[in-house]
Amino acid sequence: YSGKKPIKSVADGMVDMIVANYQSRPVVITENLSVYDAICQLFLEDVGTLFVVDQQSLLTGVVSRKDLLRTSIGRTGLEKIPVHVIMTRMPNVTYCKKEDTLISVAKKMMDSQIDSLPIVQEREHGLEVMGRVTKTNITAAFLSLVEDQDV
Ligand code: ADP
Repeated sequence: YSGKKPIKSVADGMVDMIVANYQSRPVVITENLSVYDAICQLFLEDVGTLFVVDQQSLLTGVVSRKDLLRTSIGRTGLEKIPVHVIMTRMPNVTYCKKEDTLISVAKKMMDSQIDSLPIVQEREHGLEVMGRVTKTNITAAFLSLVEDQDV
């Protein structure tokens, strides 16, 4: 036995991968944070997308790099614009649960042309943000399939 997994078991490994094992910490801001401060958070936390929550910590939207750039071009007074005016808001936010497969997340990202999804848990009045899954997490998971082997 060579120690190499046959191709089929690599494919099986991929189907078995779930979000919970490949997630990152979410970076969350509140709706009234200014566009200016959101840009600072993006750099400080080194992420591409911020998740926006209300006073009850329930998901209300997402703000990405492009959202912030679009708002900033040719404009001053960014410290006076709250992020809730520019964010992509619920119910248009694509999300997942920690028990979902990485394949289903990859499909959602490709279909919606987005880089990350909040991982949520349902609460009585909405969705609580528990984590974050990005294209980087998917790439790391993809790589782990071959790193387990002799290549
Ligand atoms: P970037 O703007 O940094 O390239 P994306 O490609 O992920 O990041 O974002 C593109 C657009 O999709 C933005 O307008 C953003 O608000 C929106 N978006 C990002 N993530 C989500 C999501 N999980 N659900 C819905 N819309 C999203």
